[in-house]
Amino acid sequence: AKSPRDGVFTEGGLQRFGPIQMCPSAGILNYGQGLFEGLKAYRKEDGSILLFRPEENAWRMRTGAERMCMPSPTVEHFVDAVKNTVLANKRWVPPPGKGSLYIRPLLMGSGAVLGLAPAPEYTFLIFVSPVGNYFKEGLAPINLIVENEFHRAIPGGTGGVKTIGNYAAVLKAQSIAKAKGYSDVLYLDSVHKKYLEEVSSCNVFVVKDKVISTPAIKGTILPGITRKSIIEVAQSQGFQVEERLVAIDELLEADEVFCTGTAVVVSPVGSITYLGKRVEYGDGVGIVSQQLYSALTSLQMGLSEDKLGWTVVVD
Ligand code: PMP
Repeated sequence: AKSPRDGVFTEGGLQRFGPIQMCPSAGILNYGQGLFEGLKAYRKEDGSILLFRPEENAWRMRTGAERMCMPSPTVEHFVDAVKNTVLANKRWVPPPGKGSLYIRPLLMGSGAVLGLAPAPEYTFLIFVSPVGNYFKEGLAPINLIVENEFHRAIPGGTGGVKTIGNYAAVLKAQSIAKAKGYSDVLYLDSVHKKYLEEVSSCNVFVVKDKVISTPAIKGTILPGITRKSIIEVAQSQGFQVEERLVAIDELLEADEVFCTGTAVVVSPVGSITYLGKRVEYGDGVGIVSQQLYSALTSLQMGLSEDKLGWTVVVD
């Protein structure tokens, strides 16, 4: 079936954070049958708590569930479960400007399987953790290294959905890059080895002469919700945005490069190293990155008018 099946879930209720019981032959432990999501809740000055486009996370989990042979929560179930979890952990949502509550929904094959097959039972759970702002004192550029040997995703693989195995695949390249002092890895496509894909946990954008380009979604890139939102915000601010193949050579000519994701929001890139050659982007934070960062964060934190109805109040 092309559309995801709605899962039937037994309500497990709220539990204190801690170890959970798992059968040793659970599908997730043996065959990586698992998906996760990530979103944030922000506290406003008036004390209310805001989620940013949680139905988008629900839809992405549904798409992923179809690919991973799992039934999935409905959009309504997903959003309600997120709201209830946040409400139950209200005291952990940091004060305005001091960070956010990171929300991690998980969907997994929890039933027992011995031979390779989808698990017969599945579990949907959500845990949360307060997180500080990614940038403590204003935006700070990150330094990336382009990966030439390892790939994050291949055509026909699972790179386009948020399955746990995608993250196992990047651990090695990311550890090597971090040990060399880089912030993260920028991956190239595995066929031509010349088109940009994305970073380990964020999407990438290239700015040249007021045109903003980002690699098109073709099944090997995660369709980021921040990516989608930044495209709309940039267009509404008069920028031309192109979703297309972006070649590695374009990095040499770019005025600015930035990354987008729930964790990093909009993160300016200060330098990119490829085959030993380092390209630097100005000495600080690009004007377009700064402008889009401000526009998006003020929406997410409820500081600007939400004309598009992107925020959802929790209580
Ligand atoms: N790419 C990857 C591989 C990611 O893990 C993430 C984080 N979810 C993103 C991009 C950005 O997606 P989003 O904006 O929805 O957080």
